[in-house]
Amino acid sequence: MLEYVQTDIWVRFQRHIGNTCHYVCADDAHGTAIMLRAEQEGITPEQLIANVQAEHEQDFKDFQVSFDNFYSTHSPENKDFSEYIYKACEAKGHIASRTITQAFDPEKQLFLADRYVTGECPKCSAQNQYGDGCDSCGVTYSATELVNPKSTLTGSTPTHKISEHVFFNLEKSKDLLKQFLKTVQMQKPIVSKLSEWLDGDLKSWDISRDEPYFGFSIPEENNKYFYVWVDAPIGYLASATNWADRNHTNLESLWGKDSV
Ligand SMILES: [Zn+2]
Repeated sequence: MLEYVQTDIWVRFQRHIGNTCHYVCADDAHGTAIMLRAEQEGITPEQLIANVQAEHEQDFKDFQVSFDNFYSTHSPENKDFSEYIYKACEAKGHIASRTITQAFDPEKQLFLADRYVTGECPKCSAQNQYGDGCDSCGVTYSATELVNPKSTLTGSTPTHKISEHVFFNLEKSKDLLKQFLKTVQMQKPIVSKLSEWLDGDLKSWDISRDEPYFGFSIPEENNKYFYVWVDAPIGYLASATNWADRNHTNLESLWGKDSV
């Protein structure tokens, strides 16, 4: 709520000084956590996200947050944009597939995200550590390296299972990102932090998840879905488009020529 209120103040300020300002946002509606919570509540993910959206809208009303459009990332516009951007990246050679090994809950028949696996740290033996890194000694590792791992969903011992995943090749965009940081207007400490990352190798980004998953399926892939953080930021384009369509304008006139 703090971030919504901060943005609302900025939007009101812009309007007050005579600028046109459209405030659009959306609920992040996808991912494993939403799928599991819906299952727990005995409803469909679609019902769950509709309930959550209604609660959020009431909260915004109570705090007088003045959205022009508060939409959902589970929308037809967002599906279209996600597919369009993915296909454009694929056509330019930014997408590649490779096989990875992941922790798998045999009881739930589900690949386990890092936070759904706990166990002993392989380095310092601290107990009850999550699958991505140790809070006690700070080392990072993959969930398959945990000692005596347990699924937090069922308590069962995860097996290792291989699956083909789709990756975005970030290394290929390194020069473009470096160039962007030279020209962008941003606070210096942020530019320095980002530049540090660009000095090392950029690991490819795993953008797919296996079924069952609540999200958009990846075009021409079998039972694979876009990872929630692929379509979540694209949701701003989708929400702006949805607002534009209802207000007889379009994204180009809002975001500038060739913005999409
Ligand atoms: Zn440790």
